[in-house]
Amino acid sequence: MSGSLAENLTAVRHRIQQCAEVAGRDVHEIQLIAVSKTRSLEEVQALAALGQTAFGENTVQDAMTKIPQLNSQALQWHFIGHLQSKKAGKIPGYFQWIHSVDSLKLAQKLSNAMASNSKNSNLHCLLQVNVSGENSKSGLKPEAVKPFLRELLDLQLPCLSWRGLMTIGVRGDELQTRQAFSQLRELQQSCREEFSLAAFDQLSMGMSGDYCLAIEEGATLVRVGTSIFGQREQL
Ligand SMILES: *Cc1c(COP(=O)(O)O)cnc(C)c1O
Repeated sequence: MSGSLAENLTAVRHRIQQCAEVAGRDVHEIQLIAVSKTRSLEEVQALAALGQTAFGENTVQDAMTKIPQLNSQALQWHFIGHLQSKKAGKIPGYFQWIHSVDSLKLAQKLSNAMASNSKNSNLHCLLQVNVSGENSKSGLKPEAVKPFLRELLDLQLPCLSWRGLMTIGVRGDELQTRQAFSQLRELQQSCREEFSLAAFDQLSMGMSGDYCLAIEEGATLVRVGTSIFGQREQL
């Protein structure tokens, strides 16, 4: 973890490959998102030069100082933090994905913002689910996901495509984390069938401490910061 950016990236990619093999999965089903929150523009540029294309940010402010400077490169930006609906207007033109939709109001505002922005035609959206039930986490309760999705689809919001579910594991508890990941997968598959949503095929789960576990449980998007960039400074 104290290696160079290039060494860290190679190590993470290698481990993803290994974990996919152990799980009997095709590694191409798994996309690595480099979580660049709090990192400098130079660090993102260095990683992009190494061939990394997907990046994740958790605040609009932090992202807005970097993304426009990197616009010439074909990078894909994922918003992975909690977003207040009044900030939905900041997403179009910057992000192609959002992993943290958890209210109808936010969905409505995102859709409006997308519709009135010329740069983006479509935003890929995941619903954030608080599977472990910890109070500190945002996201929908698992039992609320289907009723929520039904209401969402009834709204027929333009410019948003519903792509799957996201969750955060339980820090330091492997068993609970595995259960949470497997519950998320079951929920995603069941939503996909029940609502006939062919494209609802993404599972965003797994961070530096648990991405291998997440891959074993079916993750298609893993969000890795520390293992690539090193320890973040406390803000
Ligand atoms: C910070 C963050 C990550 C990355 O965490 P690391 O432990 O540094 O890999 C992943 N997902 C979310 C939602 C985050 O906020």
